[in-house]
Amino acid sequence: MGYSIETRCLHLEENEAKSDVYGAVSFPIYQTATFAHKGVGQSTGYDYSRLQNPTREQLEKIVASLEKGVDALAFASGMAAIATLMELFEPGDHLVVDADLYGGSIRLFQNISEKNGIEITSIDFWEEDVSQYITDKTKAIYIETPTNPMMNVTDIRKLAEFTKSRNLMLIVDNTFLSPYFQNPLELGADVVVHSGTKYLGGHNDTIAGFLVTNKEIISERLRFVIKTTGAGLSPFDSWLILRGIKTLALRMERAQENAIALVDWLKEQKRVTKVIYPGLPEHPGYEIMKKQARGFGGMLTFEVDSREFALSVLNHVKLIQFAESLGGTESLITYPITQTHADVPPDKLAANGITDRILRMSVGIESKEDLTEELERVFTLAEEELHG
Ligand SMILES: *Cc1c(COP(=O)(O)O)cnc(C)c1O
Repeated sequence: MGYSIETRCLHLEENEAKSDVYGAVSFPIYQTATFAHKGVGQSTGYDYSRLQNPTREQLEKIVASLEKGVDALAFASGMAAIATLMELFEPGDHLVVDADLYGGSIRLFQNISEKNGIEITSIDFWEEDVSQYITDKTKAIYIETPTNPMMNVTDIRKLAEFTKSRNLMLIVDNTFLSPYFQNPLELGADVVVHSGTKYLGGHNDTIAGFLVTNKEIISERLRFVIKTTGAGLSPFDSWLILRGIKTLALRMERAQENAIALVDWLKEQKRVTKVIYPGLPEHPGYEIMKKQARGFGGMLTFEVDSREFALSVLNHVKLIQFAESLGGTESLITYPITQTHADVPPDKLAANGITDRILRMSVGIESKEDLTEELERVFTLAEEELHG
C-alpha cells in the first residue's frame, strides 16, 4: 500500500531508502563537488555535483514521493525551476498561462520567454473558455490554483481532460497548497512546480525550487537541461529543505487552523470590505477545492476600505512581519501592489482586482490568540490614526 503522506515527509519506502554506513538518522550533507572513481568505468553512481549529489537526490526522491511523480528535480530557486522548464519549449511555441500568476513568473514569461521567441497568452482560467485560445503552435498550459494573491480556483481535473484531448502539457504551480493538501499529477497534470522556499522548506531560511513529473520522457529532458545549465540545489540547501519537509504535515495543519481563526476575525471588522479565502463556502472556488484538495491552506487575502488604512496596518504590525514570501513558520503580511506584483502592468492588476487596498497574509504557526491580538492591536491603532 505504501506509507501515508505524514510518513513520506520523513521516510522513503523501504525499497527506495539507502542505509547510511554509520546509521545516521538524519541524511548526511555530501558537501563535495566531485566523486572519485575506483577505476575506468567504475562510478559510485555520482560523478559531479552539478549532475547529481546524494543529498540532493534524497530530497528529490522525497519530493517525488510527496507529489506522486516518477521524478523530482531540485533547483536553486522556484524561478530557476520555472526557467529550466521553459527550456523545453522552442521559438514559435505558444503557451496559455494564468493571468493571476506569481509576479516573478509573469516577469519571466514576459521578459525572458518572449525574448526567446515563445509566445505567451494570459487568460482567466476560472472564468474563460481556454479552447478558443489554442492554436496549432500551443504546447502547454500553465496555471496556479489557488492563485496569488486573489485565490482564484481552477478545476485541475477538468482542465487535464482538455489538455490530454489536445496533446498539451499541463503545468501546475502547487506552491500555495503544497503536496500535503493537493497533488496535481494525480488530477491529470504533467508537471508540478514548487517554490521550495515556501511550505516545503517552511522556515523562511532558504531559497529552493522543484519540478516534479510523472512522465519519463519529460524527466529525461529536464535531467538533460539541469545538467547542462546547472541550476541544481546545493547539498547544504538540499539538507535544509529535507529537514523542513519533516514537519510539513504538522505545519500545514497548524497554519490552516490559524488562517481560519483570522478569517473569522477579519470578517467581523468594519474596515474590512472583503475576505478572500478558498475555505469560505461563499468563495466561488470552494466546491472545486473540496473535490481536488485535502485542505484550504494558510494563505488569506483581505481588502480594507482605504489605501490609508492598508498602509497604516503595514506600519503598525510587529509580531506579524511586513515581508514578501509565504509558507514559513513566521506569519508575514505583504502589500502585493508594491511588492510581489510591482512589475505587473497596471491594466493586469486592475483586471485581477489587485488594488492598493488589498493585503495578503501568510499565516504561520504561532499561537492563534497571539495573532488575533496582534491584528486587534494594529486595527485599533490604524482606526485611531485615521478616524480617531
Ligand atoms: C515564490 C514563488 C515562486 C518563485 O519561487 P522562488 O523560490 O522565490 O524563486 C513561484 N511561484 C509561486 C506561487 C511562488 O509563491
